[in-house]
Amino acid sequence: MFNCPRISKIFQLVEHYSYKPDGLLCVLTQPCSRGDGDFGNIAPSLPQDHPGGAASGFFSRLKNYSVPIPGRKKIWGGSRNNTTDNLNPYEANIPHYGSSKGPEAMPMDTEVYESPYADPDELRNSVVLREHLILEDGELGSGNFGTVLKGTYKMKKAQKQVAVKILKNSDNDGAMRDEMLREANLMQQLDNPYIVRMIGICESENLMLVMELADLGPLNKFLQKNRYLSVKNITELVHQVSMGMKYLEENNFVHRDLAARNVLLVTQHYAKISDFGLSKALTEEENYYKSKGHGKWPVKWYAPECMNYLKFSSKSDVWSFGVLMWEAFSLGQKPYKGMKGNEVMQMIDSGRRMEPPANCPDEMYDLMKKCWIFKFEERPGFAVVEPRLRDFYYDIAQ
Ligand code: AMP
Repeated sequence: MFNCPRISKIFQLVEHYSYKPDGLLCVLTQPCSRGDGDFGNIAPSLPQDHPGGAASGFFSRLKNYSVPIPGRKKIWGGSRNNTTDNLNPYEANIPHYGSSKGPEAMPMDTEVYESPYADPDELRNSVVLREHLILEDGELGSGNFGTVLKGTYKMKKAQKQVAVKILKNSDNDGAMRDEMLREANLMQQLDNPYIVRMIGICESENLMLVMELADLGPLNKFLQKNRYLSVKNITELVHQVSMGMKYLEENNFVHRDLAARNVLLVTQHYAKISDFGLSKALTEEENYYKSKGHGKWPVKWYAPECMNYLKFSSKSDVWSFGVLMWEAFSLGQKPYKGMKGNEVMQMIDSGRRMEPPANCPDEMYDLMKKCWIFKFEERPGFAVVEPRLRDFYYDIAQ
């Protein structure tokens, strides 16, 4: 659509020019009202649910820097108690995080926005040779399979920073190996900027799963440590998760473990969904997965139909997404604190839901409650949730 290979949708173009002037006189700021703006005729031509539908209003008058633009220093005059931007991320003493492109890096400025599969000369198959992989000492984290280390993958033309999931020695022949290969096989089918992509599998001293690196780690921990994050920044990240989930929904995958701990941050402004250990590809015929029995499940994130009928669909992922939203807006708190799984189930059955987090905008709590509609038939899908988040994000960016 556009010359830049990383911009293929109008909303990405708008996002790009909202953060950087990049040749324009200044950044895009306010959307024009539909029909009466300089480019008012553009907005009605896109349906509301089109990725560029709401965003297209941003093709508007170019204004001076009087509104807060993510990643830009200075400018915001709002108080710390402002409900839509309760804490100011633009103050000089507040740390910013980012990629090698700098602390203000937006998704499109990072190496992991563009697909590693874009250059067929580089990633022709999913086998990573051990001699092309350098592992670093420090642990990024650990999970069921073992540790995750940072590494460098030497490709033909470039070097890429990667995360490497290493299967524990003791499990190299067992069921865990099969599980890790199954996760790799599923990840290999996914290619979206808001999902951690698999680079390949390396068979060496241990089985290793090589992935894109999301250096800042899990969203819940990041929020616990960085409590100054603005509502706008949180909405931006949650919206990115919804875009990744919409992609999964469109492609008939269910995640089954969507939670803030499984959203990893590349920068403070860039989130990716990870951990596909429980995920399933659905068949054309059936839009849900039926589990054979209960397992070691994240019950507090599971919809009633998962617990009662062992049924998992994109709609049950939407329920989990509502819990993830609650975690994000409560700056990484644990949901249903102090409650046991069966107590949570009773609470849900009786029609009660979690209270809104402190300072959570009404629109966002309202959306969480929609995600927690008991009957999955009445619950919205990501095709509805994503534009609602996008619209709210653009509203509060004004
Ligand atoms: P997992 O086994 O997928 O649950 O991963 C365990 C931990 O390793 C996560 O909580 C992260 O802290 C870290 N980790 C996993 N994948 C990545 C990645 N792609 N980039 C950075 N850190 C990761």
